Amino acid sequence: MRQPTKASALAAVRETIGVSSIAGTRTRPSDGAEFEIRYPGDGCVIGSVAGAGDATVDAAVGAALGAFPRWAATPPSDRGRVLLRAANRLRERKLELAAVEVLDTGKPIREALEVDVDSAADCLDFFGRAITGLESAHRDLGSLHTYTRREPLGVCVGIGAWNYPLQIAAWKAAPALATGNTMVYKPSELTPLSTVLLAEILIDCGLPPGAFSVVQGGGETGRALVRHPDVRKVSLTGSVSTGIEIMREAAATLKRVTLELGGKSPLIIFNDADVERAVSGAMLANFYTQGEICSNGTRVFVQHEIADRFTQRLVDRTAMLRIGDPFDGTTHVGAMISDNHARKVMGYIDAGIAAGAECVAGGVEVALDGLGGRFIAPTIFDRCDDGMPIVTDEIFGPVLSILRFDDEVEAVTRANATPYGLAAGLFTRDSGRAHRVAAALEAGVCWVNTFNQTPVEVPFGGTKMSGFGRENGLAAIDHYTELKSVMVETSTLKDPYPT
Ligand code: NAD
Repeated sequence: MRQPTKASALAAVRETIGVSSIAGTRTRPSDGAEFEIRYPGDGCVIGSVAGAGDATVDAAVGAALGAFPRWAATPPSDRGRVLLRAANRLRERKLELAAVEVLDTGKPIREALEVDVDSAADCLDFFGRAITGLESAHRDLGSLHTYTRREPLGVCVGIGAWNYPLQIAAWKAAPALATGNTMVYKPSELTPLSTVLLAEILIDCGLPPGAFSVVQGGGETGRALVRHPDVRKVSLTGSVSTGIEIMREAAATLKRVTLELGGKSPLIIFNDADVERAVSGAMLANFYTQGEICSNGTRVFVQHEIADRFTQRLVDRTAMLRIGDPFDGTTHVGAMISDNHARKVMGYIDAGIAAGAECVAGGVEVALDGLGGRFIAPTIFDRCDDGMPIVTDEIFGPVLSILRFDDEVEAVTRANATPYGLAAGLFTRDSGRAHRVAAALEAGVCWVNTFNQTPVEVPFGGTKMSGFGRENGLAAIDHYTELKSVMVETSTLKDPYPT
C-alpha cells in the first residue's frame, strides 16, 4: 500500500482547500470571516477558509430548496443507488481521503484508514439500501382505509465537530438524502477539507447539484443556517453549550433538532472481568484519536480486588503506545487539534495533579523532532475522587481517571452521577450482571466487554445533557422524516348534519 504523506494530502486538496461547494460549484465567498487552516501535526498554516456570510448561506439554502421537490420525488431506489455509488467511490479513494482526514485532524493515519473512511462509506451503503425496504403501517378499520407515509422534511442543516469530519458529515448526509431531504452542511472551521470532497463525490455519483452543499465558516455561519426560515431541521455534533444555543435559536421557527453532544462516560470493570481484555477496552475507550472522542469512557471504575493488577497492566501497555508523526503508519497517538485545545487539556492535567490524583502515566507534552504540533502523552490518573474536575468535566483529550469501587450498586450509582448520558461500558464475565447493569446505566449507548464500536446499523446518540435524537440505524429515519397519516373512507360518508 502506498503510504500517504502530508504532500500527497495537500495535493489532494490543492484545488478545494478552504472553498465552499454550493450546488456543485466551488466558491470562495467574501461575505464571512476568514480562518487559517493549520495542519495539527506540525502547526503550519496550509491555507485559509473563506467563511460564508448571510448571503452565501442564503444562496446554499436557496439551492437546497430548489433541488428539494425533484429529489424528494425521485424513487427511493434511485436515491439509494446514488448513495451506493458514492460509498464505492469513497472506498476507491480511501487512501487519498484518509490522508486528507489526517491533514484536517492530526489523527494517526492507521486510524483514518481503519475507521474514518469506512465508517462514512458504510453509512452511505446502509441508508442507500435501507431506504428501498422502508415499509409503512396499515390499520384495518373497516371502511376507513388508513396508512402512514414517511415524508422528507425539506432543507436540513448539518453542523459538525472537528474530530471525525468525514464520518460526521456522512452520518448526517446519508439518512437525510436517502429519505428525500436536501442538506446544507457546515464542517468545523478547524477541519474544512474532506467534506467538500464528499459533496463533489455525491454530485459526481448522480446527486442533483443543490441537494448537498457545503458552506464553510465558524459559529456565525452556523447561526445563520440555524436561523434561516427555509430550514426545517438542524443536526449538530458539537459541545453542550453550542447545542443549547442551537436549540434556543431553532425554537423561534420550531425547527426539528438532533443534538449529538459531549460526554463523560463511565466504564466499569468488575472483579470477574478478563483483565487483559478490560485493559484493551480502557485503552480503546480513552486513547483513540488522542482521546478526542465524545463517547470515551474516561471515568474508569475498577472493583477493588483487581484494581492494582488492572492499573499496572494498563500503565505497562499504555507505555508501549507510540506518539508520533500522524502520517507514520506505526503511530498510535497523533497531534491535538489546536494549541488552544492542547492548552485546555494540559490545564486539566495540572488540575488533576493539584487536586491530589496520582498521575501514573503521561501527564506531559511530548516534543517531536521536526513536528511543531502539540502532542500529549496518554495520561492515567489513579486514586481519583468523583468530585475532581478531571472526573467531572469533559476534557476531550487522552486523560483517563481510575476510580475504585466495592459493589455493583455503588458503581452504577456513581457512574450515573453526571449530567451527561452519551455512552457507558462494562467488563464482566457474568451475563446476568451484564444485562442488569446495561439496563441501569443512564446512557444512549452501552457496550459490554468492548468499547467505542459504532456499526452504522445500530442507533447512536445520547441522553441527559449529551443530547437527543439518534444517528445511524433505522431510528435515524424517524429524525429526517415527517409521519403522515392518510385515511380514505371507502364507503359512504354519513351526513354530519342530518336535518
Ligand atoms: P463546538 O460546539 O465548538 O462546535 C461544533 C460545531 O458547531 C462547529 O462546526 C462550530 O462552528 C459550530 N457552532 C459553534 N457555535 C455555533 C452556533 N452558535 N450556532 C451554530 N453552529 C455553531 O464543538 P467542537 O469543539 O467542534 O467539538 C467538540 C465537541 O463535540 C465535544 O463536546 C464533543 O463531545 C462533541 N462531539 C459529540 C459527538 C457525538 O456524537 N455526541 C461526536 C463528536 C464530538
